[in-house]
Amino acid sequence: MLAKRVVKYHWIMPICDPEPVKEAFVCGDCGRATKNATHICKPQLKKLNYTCSSCGRVTTLAEKLCKPEEIV
Ligand SMILES: [Zn+2]
Ligand SMILES: [Zn+2]
Repeated sequence: MLAKRVVKYHWIMPICDPEPVKEAFVCGDCGRATKNATHICKPQLKKLNYTCSSCGRVTTLAEKLCKPEEIV
């Protein structure tokens, strides 16, 4: 069943070169289940503190980026 396959959002998924997400995970910010590694939601918009100086992606955690740079 779907609920059993949903895993907690406890690892850091790189979004610069995202791997295919096999198992749905629960977003720690909005609580919704998703299979999208580059999932973004309203609660995250307030916490977009890092940008990638290589590819320009923005995210909430530096660990997700290949060349993180803090947005000031
Ligand atoms: Zn979310
Ligand atoms: Zn990047």
